[in-house]
Amino acid sequence: MKSNGLLYLMITGILLGIFCGWFFGETMLAVGWLGDMFLDSLKMLVVPLIISSMIVGISGLGDIRKVGKTGFITLIYFMSTTGIAVGIGLVMVNILKPGMSVEMIAEKIPKNVSEKEAIGITDILQSFVSPNLIHSMAHMEILPLIVFSLVFGAVLTTLGEPGKQAIGFFDTVNTAIMKIVHLLMYFAPIGVFALIASKLGAAGGGDLFLVELAKIGKYAWTVILALLLHGILVLPAILYFVTRRNPLIYLKNLTAALTTAFSTASSSATLPITIECAEENNQVSRKASLFVLPLGATVNMNGTALYEAVAVMFIAQMMGIEMGFAEQMIVLITATLAGIGAAGIPEAGLVTMVMVLQAVGLPLEGIGMLLSIDWFLDRCRTTLNVWGDSVGAAVVDTLEEKWVEKGGDA
Ligand code: ASP
Repeated sequence: MKSNGLLYLMITGILLGIFCGWFFGETMLAVGWLGDMFLDSLKMLVVPLIISSMIVGISGLGDIRKVGKTGFITLIYFMSTTGIAVGIGLVMVNILKPGMSVEMIAEKIPKNVSEKEAIGITDILQSFVSPNLIHSMAHMEILPLIVFSLVFGAVLTTLGEPGKQAIGFFDTVNTAIMKIVHLLMYFAPIGVFALIASKLGAAGGGDLFLVELAKIGKYAWTVILALLLHGILVLPAILYFVTRRNPLIYLKNLTAALTTAFSTASSSATLPITIECAEENNQVSRKASLFVLPLGATVNMNGTALYEAVAVMFIAQMMGIEMGFAEQMIVLITATLAGIGAAGIPEAGLVTMVMVLQAVGLPLEGIGMLLSIDWFLDRCRTTLNVWGDSVGAAVVDTLEEKWVEKGGDA
């Protein structure tokens, strides 16, 4: 939906949500159901959207060599931008040293984090497949759905006419789902308003938020500053130099997706709107957006990886543990992997952070200190995650056109 009207309404929704949640926190709990309804409506579309997008996306790419090259470009983009994001986080946390003056208070670690001790690279690899697809759908485990749909779509392209018919069916499903997304966008400004207002209300309103922020404010600012550096400098530069698109216009056209990401704290739930904005507003080709965006919402998490690196270094600084070059390299690698492993749902990054902490031998207790403010930082990093995916769609679209189509075997 291109109209500037929606753009202004989305921004008004967010600002009004912050204002009402800040000053009338308690009262705003009453509008929580509206936010939940918006979130659930988005989630309702995610499974059919992912399956149909990946099937249409992969079949649109053509023969298997093209798929390989496009997949390769996508992978390089995901890995390099996530690596740069973590690098920025590490530089900022080393310069600002947010943990130096903070006293660590042992707080309770939530169960989903403390029970996650065994997570490692093999767990991430294992999560690519599922013994039961229906279970995966019911629990929004997106990665196996993506893997299955990719393979399924690729196999359909080899089946001749019957395969084409099946792809045509999923194409229609995809178009129909996107029409529903189109309708849902009219409700989006109210949805984001209600989500933000009620969440801020549940956190105790503006006053309590400020108290919590003051405890570890320097840490929060380090995360936000690093996210901004990556989002305002690095990604727009990549977008401009690779695609020659105007980053400001590209960003403006994504307002609905970015505000939804901020209010839902979920890349997966935002996916329908991200696709809508990329295709309708930014004219990213359908095959690129359908291939890159569902993948990106699940595995490409610039913001999450950056945040995990800063958080782990913050914990080390708080505990007075020296982190040398080698340890920080381990953080760089494991935070990048943890970003890939984190699901596109709220606070998933907090759980995969266990892997980074363990890799450098830090205790999990430090996570307790981050909890009070995590709901807010989660929103900030999710917004960057979605921005990174969207820039990726344009980059892959351009490179695919240049390198794969014109260059042939280049
Ligand atoms: N909430 C994030 C997302 O959905 C993941 C995380 O960092 O917790 O992108």
